[in-house]
Amino acid sequence: MSNDNIVRRGLMLVLSSPSGAGKTTLSRRLLDCDRGIALSVSVTTRPRRPTEREGVDYYFVSGEEFVRLAAVGEFLEHAAVFGNRYGTPRAVVIDELSLGKDILFDIDWQGTQQLKEKMRDDLVSIFILPPSHEELERRLRARAQDSDEVVAARMAKANDEISHWAEYDYVVINDDLESTLAKIRTILDAERMKRSRQTGIAEFARKLMD
Ligand code: 5GP
Repeated sequence: MSNDNIVRRGLMLVLSSPSGAGKTTLSRRLLDCDRGIALSVSVTTRPRRPTEREGVDYYFVSGEEFVRLAAVGEFLEHAAVFGNRYGTPRAVVIDELSLGKDILFDIDWQGTQQLKEKMRDDLVSIFILPPSHEELERRLRARAQDSDEVVAARMAKANDEISHWAEYDYVVINDDLESTLAKIRTILDAERMKRSRQTGIAEFARKLMD
């Protein structure tokens, strides 16, 4: 029997980075190659980009609806980023963790801090850094889905986000997509084997000794 078959509690894998460090691509690739982890789909007041799908990339809501959801405690964490509001729906996360499913979060440092306060033992946080300032700027420009103003605001914000790197469990420099993905998978594999998460291991070990 491998560790994969032992009953365990799921973990919360957080990926944060300044925008343009490759986090969205890395998240998608990780979800494609690892069936054991699912994305937490956030709620946002940001307008939908043409490539985005409701319920897949985000749940898009009005400002009023966001305030209502926050007031009734629907969010595990929420924050304002670039003038828009973002929040993680609570119920689905709690259910999935208890079923032993792992959940991926593409959230910023403010959300990560809130999750750390509430659910430290379930949290594994990774900060992705771009290889250089020039490369970050190039990636932000190449994206070009947003207006120039938005790109400029995001570049100004990148420094703010980067300043929070030391609050994370792991830091990975994304100089090459494939090797960065491999590093994230290594972290995930190791964290899945943590004794405290393998709730079925005591029973397994007891049977071994019978
Ligand atoms: P974007 O608008 O480019 O999709 O996301 C902007 C920023 O908001 C990214 O840094 C992303 O990680 C963050 N973000 C997305 N969803 C959430 C969320 O539910 N909570 C928090 N705190 N940040 C989020």
